[in-house]
Parts: sequence; structure tokens; C-alpha cells
Amino acid sequence: MKILRRKPRAQISSNGPSYPVPVMQRMEPEVLKLFLPMVIESRSELRKSGLIAMDSRQQDISAIIDRIYSKYMPDIVEKAKAIADRFLSDINRYSVKSLESTLKDFSIKFTDSSPAVDRKISDLSAEFVAMIKRVGEKHHDRVLKAVSSGSGAAGIFEELMNIEGVTRSIAKNIAEDQTRKMTSTINAVRLQEAGVTKFRWLHSSGGKTQRPLHVEADGQIYSYNDPPHIGDDGGPTLPGLEPNCRCRAIPELTF
Ligand SMILES: [Zn+2]
Repeated sequence: MKILRRKPRAQISSNGPSYPVPVMQRMEPEVLKLFLPMVIESRSELRKSGLIAMDSRQQDISAIIDRIYSKYMPDIVEKAKAIADRFLSDINRYSVKSLESTLKDFSIKFTDSSPAVDRKISDLSAEFVAMIKRVGEKHHDRVLKAVSSGSGAAGIFEELMNIEGVTRSIAKNIAEDQTRKMTSTINAVRLQEAGVTKFRWLHSSGGKTQRPLHVEADGQIYSYNDPPHIGDDGGPTLPGLEPNCRCRAIPELTF
């Protein structure tokens, strides 16, 4: 007969669940691919039309920019939904594995799917799509602003070159921030479902800038249903939710 025994010194893996770097790395080019064709076509259409060369009327240039934006945006939104769903599924699997490995000394079983987890995944997918839409709108506004700035052909073209560089760094930020946000949010729901109600804030100084409030929170224990009010807007937040926040939540078990 097999005797089940509690391990004598059961402990939580000290670093806790981390963020899936390979997911970030795969997401980045996919996000870039959403916007890059629109950026490149804007530039080549303006060049082809000769409008820039002739320093044409602003409204003609704006009409071209508007037409390209209307052509690309529905497709960008549709692809964003597919990207979100695919990566959320990867992150969800990662969440189960990393939580099981963090709490391997405890007999907690996590399931891939539950109504609460599925609902949260669907919310995160909608939030991702809305965020991509906002980025597209911002991009459009930026090009239109360049057109109406009166900086002339050279100015508009230079701005379009800048926008390509900006788009690349935005894609990187989106991939990293969204991966952390999705992982942290799904972990939180899954842990609470398993009866883990508290977490320890682990500050990471990996980011370029440190948030003093996150440094202060390091090592403190908080409840998932009453997280600390240290969000950038002063509201409640979890580790990894704010832009470029690399902090982590370590599950805290009470005996
Ligand atoms: Zn942080």
C-alpha cells in the first residue's frame, strides 16, 4: 500500500511564478506585423502620388492617409483578436505549469479551464483588441498632425520615418507589457480559485525606472481581493500590470 506523506519541509519555490519570456519574444513581431504594412503603405502612397514632392494641399494628403487607415484598421482589429486568443492560450498553459511548479510541495491541482479563468481570458482578449485599436488611432492622429503641421513635404516624410521607429518600440512594449499583464491576471484568478488568497509582492529592479511605491511594497503580503493602491493612477494593482512593471506575485499560503 502506498502511504501518502506530507513532505517534511514543504515550501513555496522562492522566486514564484515568472513571466514567459518566449511568449513575449513571439508576440513582438506579430504585433509589429499588425501596424507595419499600414505605415509602409502610407509612406509609399504619398511618395507615389507625388503629393509630397509637389507640397500639395493638406486635404489631399489627409485624404490619402484617411483612406489607408480605413482600409487597414478592420483587418488590424480582426488580426489582433486572433493574436490575443492564441497568446492567451499559451499564457494560460504556462500559468498552470508555473503555478504547479511553484507549489509543487503542496497538493494543489490547477485546471486549464474554469468559468472564472475563461471569463478573465475573454476580458483580457477584449482589452488587448481595444488597446491595439487605440494604438492605431494614435498612429493615425500622429500622421495627420504631421500633415497639418505645415512642416512641408520633408517634415511629413521625416515624421513617417520616425513613426516606423516608434512602431517598432511600441510593438516591443506591447508584447512585454501584455504578456506580464495577462500572466499576472490569470495567475491571480487561478490561485484564488484554488483557495490561495494572499500573495507577496516581489519587486524587480529589471526595469529602466523603478516605481518607489513598488520598491516599498517589496516583501509585503497583500490579499488578492484587496490589492495595494499603488497603481500609476492611484488605484489598486497587482504586480506586472503597469507598463514596464516587472514585479511578481509570490503565492502566500497560510497554515
Ligand atoms: Zn513594479
